[in-house]
Amino acid sequence: MILYSTEHKSPNVSLEEAIFRGLPPDNGLYMPTDIKSLPASFFETIQDRSLPEIAIAVCENLLGDSLSSAEIKQIIEQSMTFEAPIVSLEPGVEVLELFHGPSMAFKDFGARFMAAIMSHYLLKSKREIRILVATSGDTGGAVAQGFYNTPGISVTILYPTGKVSDIQEKQLTTLGGNVTALEIDGTFDDCQRLVKQAFLDDELRSAFDLASANSINISRLIPQSFYYFAAYAQAKKKGLNAPIVFSVPSGNFGNLSAGLMAFKMGLPVQAFVASCNENHPVADYLRSGEYKPVASVETLSNAMDVGSPSNFIRMRLLAGDEWSNVRETVKGYFTNDQKTQQIMSDVYTRTGYVMCPHTAVGYDGLQQYKAEYPGDVTGIVLSTAHYAKFLPTVEGTLGVSVPVPARLAELLDKTKKSIPMGTDFEGFKVYLLQ
Ligand SMILES: *Cc1c(COP(=O)(O)O)cnc(C)c1O
Repeated sequence: MILYSTEHKSPNVSLEEAIFRGLPPDNGLYMPTDIKSLPASFFETIQDRSLPEIAIAVCENLLGDSLSSAEIKQIIEQSMTFEAPIVSLEPGVEVLELFHGPSMAFKDFGARFMAAIMSHYLLKSKREIRILVATSGDTGGAVAQGFYNTPGISVTILYPTGKVSDIQEKQLTTLGGNVTALEIDGTFDDCQRLVKQAFLDDELRSAFDLASANSINISRLIPQSFYYFAAYAQAKKKGLNAPIVFSVPSGNFGNLSAGLMAFKMGLPVQAFVASCNENHPVADYLRSGEYKPVASVETLSNAMDVGSPSNFIRMRLLAGDEWSNVRETVKGYFTNDQKTQQIMSDVYTRTGYVMCPHTAVGYDGLQQYKAEYPGDVTGIVLSTAHYAKFLPTVEGTLGVSVPVPARLAELLDKTKKSIPMGTDFEGFKVYLLQ
């Protein structure tokens, strides 16, 4: 895979360089120069393939010029160790459960693949790197779990004290080993500023090989395409033959961009639904052709509270660049908290299925799509997190107590280990250098 910068002011780079750089120097985003279709034979037999088998075939198609078959197989076997099942909710609606990984959110797919591919390159070059990541909750958990025990990599996570949920904090602070959590006496923005400053500091950069695990890294996007194929395979196996519509609860639009990569590789999809909460500049763009990023507002589906989505340009380019092309493939809808809670309640009452608020936004987007474009479709709603990660909201909305998976319950009993720290850069730097 060769990658170019969307700003066109930096040179093309190899896969390895794109992964370790994260961002091109011109502040664009890295994009593959070429995404080839998979052969028809792949889709004819896809229903008999497992998620890792599908992932290997997709990687050979995308990355076959950068990695050998044996290397691809090893990276996939190391990282794709959990399932992404589709569950039938009601006629015409399937839920693609992406929360069976270690942190119980879909970001596990990206984080684990990124850790495996980075460690592949690091072992080859015998280098060691230090990952710095600021988190407001979900990303840090996935990165901590994804990089835990990965040779050649140590991880430092910065999180704002008192501003992440109990479960999220325990996910960051109970691993130990190569993962250290810094509890910053400030906001998420302070955490992000400290990380950015560290990357610009000459003394730190000569002391360590620093890398970021930011969500715009191309190695987090690639593995998210795998489960779109796997969902199609399962639908085919179940005999669901109506055209497929994926509804994607969206914030930074990495997940939806990954779906469009699968579409470019030939996955038969009628439409992608960009399902948004009250932060909806992309849904507005899809209606009007005008893109106006805004400041974010807080909602119950807080992992999607993004007013200026970092992957907007990737989504646009992957869907054909021109607005008229993009809106052929991607349909945008938005909803509010009240409707989100109503859906969580209604779905629970009718089917007994408990969904997290993000998934409910996705369900709502699919219903709005079906109302606007009547016809027989297989709707697949991406469930981006396990409901138990949002327990107070879920139990408050449903008015019942819901079971918590053993993995999360055990976490709550573990002892938190964090290093408290202020917001001044000098203190942070002294800590890193010691
Ligand atoms: C990150 C996240 C999203 C948004 O995904 P994007 O790729 O940023 O669009 C949705 N739901 C959950 C639970 C998340 O953690």
